[in-house]
Amino acid sequence: MSTYHPLTEQEAIDIARSIEAFFPADASLSCKEIGDGNLNLVFHIKDSVSGKSLILKQALPYAKVVGESWPLTLDRARIESEKLILEGKLAPGLVPQVYKYDPELALTVMEDLSDHVIMRRGLIEGNIYPLFADHISTFIANTLFFTSDLGMNQQQKKLQVKSFINPELCKITEDLIFDDPYTLSDNNNYEAAIEDAAAALRSNDELHLEVAILREKFLTNAQALLHGDLHTGSIFITKQSTKVIDPEFAFYGPIGFDIGAVYANLLMNYVAQAHWSKDEAAREAHRSYLLEMVVSIWNQFHDKFLALWEAHGVDRLANEAKGYKQYYMKRILQDAAGYTGAKMIRRIVGLSHVIDIDRIDDDAVRNSCQRQVLNIGTQLIIRNRSLQSIEELVDIVKSN
Ligand code: ADP
Ligand code: MG
Ligand code: MG
Ligand code: MG
Repeated sequence: MSTYHPLTEQEAIDIARSIEAFFPADASLSCKEIGDGNLNLVFHIKDSVSGKSLILKQALPYAKVVGESWPLTLDRARIESEKLILEGKLAPGLVPQVYKYDPELALTVMEDLSDHVIMRRGLIEGNIYPLFADHISTFIANTLFFTSDLGMNQQQKKLQVKSFINPELCKITEDLIFDDPYTLSDNNNYEAAIEDAAAALRSNDELHLEVAILREKFLTNAQALLHGDLHTGSIFITKQSTKVIDPEFAFYGPIGFDIGAVYANLLMNYVAQAHWSKDEAAREAHRSYLLEMVVSIWNQFHDKFLALWEAHGVDRLANEAKGYKQYYMKRILQDAAGYTGAKMIRRIVGLSHVIDIDRIDDDAVRNSCQRQVLNIGTQLIIRNRSLQSIEELVDIVKSN
């Protein structure tokens, strides 16, 4: 039973029942597999008597992509559960509680968040989330500061880097985000109607230089322990609550990468409102709301990160060197802009897309949104190293 194999629904129920002090003895459990089944199984287990419920997430030893199978390490289940537990300590209340991790089965048992909605869907429906900027800036500042050389023992940090080496999942990012969109690759996936815009990505030398620099930082800059896949499909949300899930891509990388993931997905939703908003007024309102959120996330992250640094900085020279804090924060902002652009471009021409854009049924509107995402993404990448403020990022979005 404990040797690795994909669980049946009955086995998932038996495991859920064995979680100590969770379900009452007379529980009547039912199970449904609710994952999209590409990389992982997600079982939802519910007791019809008490109404209590649990989630079991099990890694599959392969990824199903375009009809093929890529082998993929089960170690990512360890990385996911260890990262979730660490995030729960550093950013209390902003991730699901973990009840159990079973290494043999590559299985994490966690809190059921079905009373939340996936943020991507919520934004498509035009909902607003007044506490999101506060919550996500806390999540990013706390999880990244306290895993960086600024906020933890630097010898322990090296050991932590080692236990979060995640070569196979990093390679997915390195290939799909930082390589394929800029060359002819079988992994690319876009409509013939935007072939000219995709071809322009392949012949833009200025863009390639910046992508190579962003890629190098992703490969080498072990700045902090990232979530690694922080798009709006990895965020469960309500008006009052934010919960970040799915950190299987976690590894030590540049802080701007996590911020860029959030921004790219907010900005693709911004563009896609050309279709999703009911009318001009609703579109304007939703778009200004998203841009205010982008600014607020940066300003709050900046202030929270510096406050943590002030209170808990462990590196004497970094703490005291005049101008170093400004240098450090500006570099994060510039990296965030570059990674935002890279993550926008890959969702249009690369393997994996977002429903904000793909589900636009009007071909002309969809293709025009795709072009706009590529334009904004390209400008953000080309200008990342000279960017001086978050307002400049917003101006790039507005003028493209
Ligand atoms: P994957 O790594 O395969 O993308 P996710 O962790 O993103 O897996 O989960 C896939 C889907 O399963 C989510 O979009 C959500 O619908 C559901 N799910 C995952 N975790 C939970 C949870 N803790 N509570 C409720 N639903 C969840
Ligand atoms: Mg998925
Ligand atoms: Mg995942
Ligand atoms: Mg996911």
